[in-house]
Amino acid sequence: MEYVCTKCNARHSIDELLYTCPSCGGVLLLNDRDFAEYKKIPGKKWQKLFDERRASDCQALKGIFRYYELMAPVLEEEDIVYLGDGHSPVILASKELRENLGIDFAFKHEGQNPSASFKDRGMAGVFSYLRAMVRKHGWDDILTVCASTGDTSAAAALYGAYVGSPIKTVVLLPEGKVTPQQLSQPLGSGATVLQIPGVFDDCMKVVEHLASHYRVALLNSKNSWRILGQESYAYEVAQEYRWNMKNKALFVPIGNAGNITAIMSGFIKMKKLDIIDELPRIFGVQSHHADPVYQYYHQVKENRVYHPVEVKPSVAQAAMIGNPVSFPRVQKLAAEYEALGGNFNVVQVREQDIMNAMIIANRHGHIACTQGGECLAGLFHAKQQGKIAHEFAILDATAHALKFSGFQEMYFENTFPPEFGVVPKENLCNRPHSVISEERKKSLSAGEYAEEAARNIAGFMGLAKR
Ligand SMILES: *Cc1c(COP(=O)(O)O)cnc(C)c1O
Ligand SMILES: [Zn+2]
Repeated sequence: MEYVCTKCNARHSIDELLYTCPSCGGVLLLNDRDFAEYKKIPGKKWQKLFDERRASDCQALKGIFRYYELMAPVLEEEDIVYLGDGHSPVILASKELRENLGIDFAFKHEGQNPSASFKDRGMAGVFSYLRAMVRKHGWDDILTVCASTGDTSAAAALYGAYVGSPIKTVVLLPEGKVTPQQLSQPLGSGATVLQIPGVFDDCMKVVEHLASHYRVALLNSKNSWRILGQESYAYEVAQEYRWNMKNKALFVPIGNAGNITAIMSGFIKMKKLDIIDELPRIFGVQSHHADPVYQYYHQVKENRVYHPVEVKPSVAQAAMIGNPVSFPRVQKLAAEYEALGGNFNVVQVREQDIMNAMIIANRHGHIACTQGGECLAGLFHAKQQGKIAHEFAILDATAHALKFSGFQEMYFENTFPPEFGVVPKENLCNRPHSVISEERKKSLSAGEYAEEAARNIAGFMGLAKR
């Protein structure tokens, strides 16, 4: 395997930890030099291989490395780190939800990964590679760092804690801009947690400075091993639908744009190997409070100019990024996607719609986070605009709802700061009801208390006597 620069096409050895091209500074992707050989194998044979591997007892091949040949066939079994990553359930949206929206779709619940977001896929990739490097070079001390909107650090700290010596993990967070759950995760895994004032984009600048001046391993999605690991999402979706992507559309939230890069890259590989006949349509989704990729693709094709944006507070906090590191990768892969007959779009949604959509999804038995809500809002928007009609949609619910319960609480309590511009709909709010007061409880015997509490509940719920 080798690194390939997205800007100047230079190739570099994977024997070194590289994040950007030493020749031109461009971002990198990984390339398998045997890919031409793989093309000689019929697509059906690949399908059979991956289908049979479902039954494998080999722990290393149970997670994202089920697709070993398409991931990193340079790694040894002993290097592969598996913590239960990947193979997140694809859940058909509840009947009522599909009927109400008039669209057929499913959620892929990435919150059921070990650290409760899709970031584990990429970390399984990076940490497996790091273990191979440690073994090969006999490194005795390796410090990993990442900037994070919350979930990257949770995943990095988890995998770092599992792998242990000689790897130590440091994470850098924007103070007050990650949820309490996301902060508790790296703390609980024993990582060194550092905070700075500002937003993710500020953390990223600091980490980049660190990586170019000191000996550290950068775990942000600039690291192309993470992109590689996250390609597994595409392979799983294809396998879930028996390698048939006809009339399918995927919705993916865009933050730093690593995930959408990985998903496009995975589908491109499968198309080139004839594992799938058709590429699914891809819809990136961005909030109007952090929408540089939407702003770019929204312009007429010939005159597109890229500008980073200043982000405003967003409930899709994990995607609140004004200058996505992987934007050049998206540009390159979206062009390739379309050249292969695929279709790439970006839609923009409002904060209000993201919150409503998340709550509606979860009131129908899903476990969508705010970014999952963003996908549902994007699907709804695409439907209203006639951008999607007869396709079946697969929405990336990127993290577990519990990580973002603070936003749910702000919605239910109507305490959103005005910058978000979110006003709750009363019919979507839910609050606990008190059955009996503490004072009343004190004045009653145990038996009377149970009886009165039950009577209050019966009255409240309008229960009939038996
Ligand atoms: C990281 C993250 C995103 C954004 O993904 P990118 O690869 O940065 O575009 C979306 N949702 C969740 C929950 C995330 O953790
Ligand atoms: Zn280059």
